[in-house]
Amino acid sequence: SAPLDVERIREDFPILEREFDGNRVVYLDNAATTQTPNQVIDAISDYYRTTNANVHRGIHHLSQEASIHYEEAHDTLAAFVGASGGREEMVFTKNTTEAENLVAYAWGLNELEEGDEVVLTEMEHHASLVTWQQIAKKTGATVRYIRITEEGKLDMNHARELIGPDTRMVSVVHVSNALGTINPVGELADLAHEQDALIFVDGAQAVPNRPVDVESIDADFYAFSGHKMAGPTGIGCLYGKKSILEEMEPFLYGGEMIRKVEFEDSTWNDLPWKYEAGTPLIAQGIALDRAVEYLEGIGMDRIRAHEEWLTEYALERLGAFDDIEIYGPPEAENRGGLVGFNLDGVHAHDMASIMNDHAVAIRAGDHCTQPLHDKLGVAASARASFYLYNTREEVDKLVEAVDDARQLFA
Ligand code: PMP
Repeated sequence: SAPLDVERIREDFPILEREFDGNRVVYLDNAATTQTPNQVIDAISDYYRTTNANVHRGIHHLSQEASIHYEEAHDTLAAFVGASGGREEMVFTKNTTEAENLVAYAWGLNELEEGDEVVLTEMEHHASLVTWQQIAKKTGATVRYIRITEEGKLDMNHARELIGPDTRMVSVVHVSNALGTINPVGELADLAHEQDALIFVDGAQAVPNRPVDVESIDADFYAFSGHKMAGPTGIGCLYGKKSILEEMEPFLYGGEMIRKVEFEDSTWNDLPWKYEAGTPLIAQGIALDRAVEYLEGIGMDRIRAHEEWLTEYALERLGAFDDIEIYGPPEAENRGGLVGFNLDGVHAHDMASIMNDHAVAIRAGDHCTQPLHDKLGVAASARASFYLYNTREEVDKLVEAVDDARQLFA
């Protein structure tokens, strides 16, 4: 049976009640964004009803309360990913993409020069691939890509070959949003550190559905997005080792991030505020704190078990057809909770559109991994992705819709 009491959990997510043409929505687009439980929706509205004020500067009660809750949210998020430095190691950004850009601009633009290398993987999301590519162009550094194997895993021999004395930064996705592959980020961190390089881990698809410990990985930076973990849109997180965040230049300049400003020069605020210029994501941060409480109340180990249970079933059901190609590793235990696939002769967009006729929400496209799709030799793939409220019956509905697509197009 299901590792989670899904019936109970679904009561927390009002959107799952929605129907289209008499069909209850089957939401399998969780890798793009997850749904929001009442607890988090209430945290947002409670904040605006009771506490709304700007933070840090205020002497009045509302500002003090907002500041405490906002600042404590950093501690919660730090603890959630195992950062023992607390708030000083946890910067709130707009999303994972902004976290990537923060490091690429603040560190990369200042540190990289000709002859330096940045090592990525062929399965990087555009958030990291395009960012480092462009920073490399500006600095004269070179970007190298760790190859993937036939099964969609990283070729670790190639990783050992590529990560060398010229490597300054290794930026890798923890769980691929296109292949589902779980990458050995701890091993990659060791390879980077042996060469005195830093490692940035994109955890956008990892933090929502498994326990993550940035310190046991020994990541220098680790990023993720609130909207993929039952939290609100508009907030992401950047963990960074305190010693590195202290040394690094700021990314954005302005209010809140300064200590002393003179006409000629300025100095920077304490961590993490040095990296949070302007009025920050106050409501979002407080609501994300509530999302973490929600997820921890259920248990990250159990969420992971549930996701694997659904993925195993989806692989088994979709894998039963000769005319379906599934991307990524064949075993559910080596994957995150998503399955990318194509049905012979049917474009992924047509597939998603037929799914939509059944009120099954999936994603079709290149999933912000165009070079990876070029390598796979397809323009697009269909992707079903699961979260704690999904059921095996919903996977059955997905397969029914695939059958329908086969009838229509074959
Ligand atoms: N990296 C990965 C692996 C992702 O799946 C995503 C979201 N699709 C991102 C980065 C970017 O996240 P965001 O759009 O929240 O910045």
